[in-house]
Amino acid sequence: MKILVSGASVAGPSVALWLGRAGHDVTVVEVAPALRQGGYAVDFRGEVFTTVLDRMGVLGDLRALQTGGNAMRFVDESGRKLMRLPAEFAGGELEVLRADLSRVLYEHSRARATYRFGDSIAALREHSDGVDVSFESGIEERYDLVIGADGMHSVVRRLAWPADQVVERHLDYYVAGWEVPNTLGISGDTLMYNVPGKLASVGGDRRDPGLAQTLFVFKSPRLEYDRRDLDQQKAILREQFGGLGWHVPELLKALPAATELYFDSIGRVRVERWSTDRIVLLGDAGYGATFGALGTGTAVVGAYVLAGELARARGDFRTAFARYEARLRKAVSTTQDGSRAGSFMAPATRFGLTARNRILDIPFFLKQMLKLAQNMSELIDLPDYSGQQGQLVEE
Ligand SMILES: Cc1cc2nc3c(=O)[nH]c(=O)nc-3n(C[C@H](O)[C@H](O)[C@H](O)COP(=O)(O)OP(=O)(O)OC[C@H]3O[C@@H](n4cnc5c(N)ncnc54)[C@H](O)[C@@H]3O)c2cc1C
Repeated sequence: MKILVSGASVAGPSVALWLGRAGHDVTVVEVAPALRQGGYAVDFRGEVFTTVLDRMGVLGDLRALQTGGNAMRFVDESGRKLMRLPAEFAGGELEVLRADLSRVLYEHSRARATYRFGDSIAALREHSDGVDVSFESGIEERYDLVIGADGMHSVVRRLAWPADQVVERHLDYYVAGWEVPNTLGISGDTLMYNVPGKLASVGGDRRDPGLAQTLFVFKSPRLEYDRRDLDQQKAILREQFGGLGWHVPELLKALPAATELYFDSIGRVRVERWSTDRIVLLGDAGYGATFGALGTGTAVVGAYVLAGELARARGDFRTAFARYEARLRKAVSTTQDGSRAGSFMAPATRFGLTARNRILDIPFFLKQMLKLAQNMSELIDLPDYSGQQGQLVEE
């Protein structure tokens, strides 16, 4: 089949890898002019995820790139330690930079898939013989199937799903991150500083000791801003964090020069059905929860199951899409519901902050938290598609 995938981060290249191997004619379109760089790290927790990465043939490459994770040291304004979470807490079993993951998946898929950067779907028209797609570049093309793997703000979802079938919930917090020169000499533990409803943090960059990466979280009702306007987002951050102590003024000082800024609502996407007829959603586009819900692992497993069911159904994509959703929906909803990233990172009250720090300082409770995150991956019942038409195997 001729298949279009929108988005080249995690879900897109993962599904392109499987579909290319199965002999489909795959094009991946990515709006960014090249693979996106973005500095944050993502982790995999649980055997289900590493099993899929292994079957994809990328686990070795990723292990070679793993960061090892950083412990998180929560400090007060003077830098005194309040609580420390071990590297395992932040980094799971395997932690890599999202950009490295994306590059490895791209490298392993590009021999069997065409990547087109700097373009985006402008319009979709689905009919009984295929999906007619117009691109921003002016190209027009017909595909048998379209896969929306273009993240929380998916253009495929916006164009192909009626608004009343999509719930985008704002979970009361925003998250932001940008690169700063490492003038603070950060190495080892990532430093975390809270005031009620806000977190400012900074961690060293393992590749380049001269650089560091911030992660800021703040509680706020939904804000109106232009997602493409970095200056507006920088102004919001200055407004939210201006006047705070610790290293905040220094970290904000690097903001005007930042060319890459990650800024988003901590939210959750729920779609009534993951597919229309010939169009299907994958990863954050269909079931995202900005962070704290194993989104990377879920995107990789989703790609595996989607491609596996397509092979198993031998071209009957309607059956394949229904089985893909039936296999994953419950597990994904449970992990999404478990996501409390904002209130965990930046409890809204002084009491909440003290309680979090005290509880997690007790090894028993810390162990329980780690177990909980691990157990979520066990909700996914991983099918084995090897031998499906003899296709889904690593050469
Ligand atoms: C700070 C932070 C930390 C995180 N940490 C973790 C973690 O530790 N563990 C974990 O499991 N998850 C983590 N996540 C979540 C994880 O990043 C996502 O769940 C994962 O990246 C989802 O992958 P995806 O491919 O579905 O979507 P995305 O990674 O969002 O990729 C979407 C892609 O589509 C592209 N795109 C967008 N619009 C268009 C368009 N119109 N046309 C073409 N392409 C388009 C984008 O440029 C992007 O390349 C974290 C997220 C954040 C923000």
